[in-house]
This record gives sequence, C-alpha cells and structure tokens, in this order.
Amino acid sequence: MAEPRRWPAVEVRSAGIDDGGVLGDLVAATLHDHAPLAVQDLIAPPLPPGGLWDPTAPPPPEPPPTPLAWRVCFADVATRDGAADAITALTLGLSVERLDLPDDDWVARSQQALSAIAAGPFIVAPPWDLPAAPPEGTHVLVIEPSMGFGTGHHQTTRLCLAALGALPVAGRAVLDVGTGSGVLAMAASALGAREVRGVDIDADAIEAAKRSAALNVLPTPVVLETADVFAVPSAPVDIVLANLTGAMLIRAAAPLAAMVVPGGMLVVSGFMQYERDGVEAALDGFDVVSRTHEDEWCAGVLRRR
Ligand code: SAH
Repeated sequence: MAEPRRWPAVEVRSAGIDDGGVLGDLVAATLHDHAPLAVQDLIAPPLPPGGLWDPTAPPPPEPPPTPLAWRVCFADVATRDGAADAITALTLGLSVERLDLPDDDWVARSQQALSAIAAGPFIVAPPWDLPAAPPEGTHVLVIEPSMGFGTGHHQTTRLCLAALGALPVAGRAVLDVGTGSGVLAMAASALGAREVRGVDIDADAIEAAKRSAALNVLPTPVVLETADVFAVPSAPVDIVLANLTGAMLIRAAAPLAAMVVPGGMLVVSGFMQYERDGVEAALDGFDVVSRTHEDEWCAGVLRRR
C-alpha cells in the first residue's frame, strides 16, 4: 500500500495578542508570494457547517483578539522553506516551526473553505488558489478570505454573480450596497462597467475590500466607501446590487428604489424563499425580470418602472 501523503507545513505563532490583525495581515501578504495550499487558523472557531453566514441569526459578539496561530501547508519542502525563511525575515518575533504533517484531512478541509469557486462567468479565488488556466471568457476575482463577507462560498454571493453575469453591465454605472468583500463590485468592473461604487456599513469590510481590490487588475477602478444603505450619497445609477437580508431589503426598499434610474436594474439577494413575496411587495416600483434560488436562498432581478 502507498505511504499516506505527508505535508510540509509551518506553524506560525505570535507570543502576544495580534491586536487589529496586523501580524496576520503581514504574514498573509508574505504567504501570498509562496503558494500555500491551505491555511488553518489554530485558534479561530471552525466555520459553521452549511455556510459561512446566517443573516437570520443575531450577529455574534466581536471575538476578543487572540495571538496569531496559523498552520500553513505547502506542496513541497522547498516552497515551505522559502515561506518559512520569508516569515522569519519579517523579524516580527514570530515563532516559525517547520513540520511534516500526516494527512489527517485537515488540508482538504481547510482548502474546501478557502478554495476557488465558480459562479456565472466568474471564478472567485483566494490568493493561494488562483486557477492556472481559467476557461476563455472567465473573469478571475481574487478575494482574501476571512476578511468581510463575500468569498463566493455563500449561495447568495453566487446567485448575485450569476445574475450580474447575465446583465448588460458594459458601459453602465453600478452601485453595490452591502459590498462586504467587494466581490460583486469587482465583478461589475470586470464586466466593463463605466463606474463602480461599493458601500458597506462596516468600515472593516471596506478596508478589507480595498485590500482585495488591490490584488485584482480591474478595468474600472472600484470606489469603496463606508455608508449606510439609508444614507448613500449617490445619484441614481443603471444597476444596483443589494445582497442584504430580507428584513433589510424591505426596510430599505424606498432608498434602494431611489438609487436606480427608471428602466434600471436592481439585483437583490440575501433573503429566503419564505421572504420572497414580502421583498417583492416592498419593491413595488419594480417589475420582476427573473427569480433564482440555491437551496433556500433567493435572488431576484428587478427592473424599475
Ligand atoms: N455583497 C457581498 C456581501 C453581502 S453580505 C456578497 O454578495 O457576498 C451583506 C453586507 O451588507 C455585509 O457586509 C454588511 O456589513 C452589509 N450591511 C448590512 N447592513 C447594512 C446597511 N444598513 N448599510 C450598508 N451595508 C450594510
């Protein structure tokens, strides 16, 4: 029988708390150049099964800052050693331990949460899982996972990407409300939108979205700003994307409608099947063009009358 696979890896740990995630950012940026296959946070709780985000659940309390403790796996020893040397050369006082790990499935499990996914004409990929030869006509969007919602691993993100891919985006002005990781805004840019803005109420998400945007070669620069859906400073645009929640779409129906030019499109998602009627009723100035769903999650494309 073949020997079970073993993985060259490093464990990187900080002695103290990684306040603000500064050490994590520096290590992630360094790893970016050394093709890690999988990154496992040894302290963060595992992702819940079945999705990264449940908008119906109350927001979890902000986790207290912890020390950095990552296990990072590589395809071969030379790559691993290059990464270990580069992290040591940062002189951040991190402990960098080289390991030879038995394959107990953690690589597969961590990669599953952090690997590239396809949706519509897009592949959303973490920096360490970029497709070598994406199919012709596919747009690759690089997103740093774990920073802001929208790695493509949620049904609603995929539904929005597919909906966007079917719209005539080239030359249009696009606004992405609740941009999270910025993934939909970047997708609109990739499709040749004339101008693209993404707003989110979460300033940390906007900072992370800016970092991800910098990893992409975007034909149109994406303007990312912190703003509440109820106070977006914007003239109406051709296409508005709003992957929020059912309750929020209903509450914010009036400001969302005001963001769309007559004849323009509104892509909504983040609501469940049982919320669909309520969402469509609240957006009564629109005609429904298409409805899609994945599992119990829904999306809709609506045209403003
Ligand atoms: N557009 C991304 C992220 C969707 S998650 C995607 O499709 O994957 C929903 C986002 O909406 C979160 O980032 C959240 O911070 C943001 N959000 C929630 N309430 C908001 C509000 N009132 N105004 C603006 N953004 C809001």
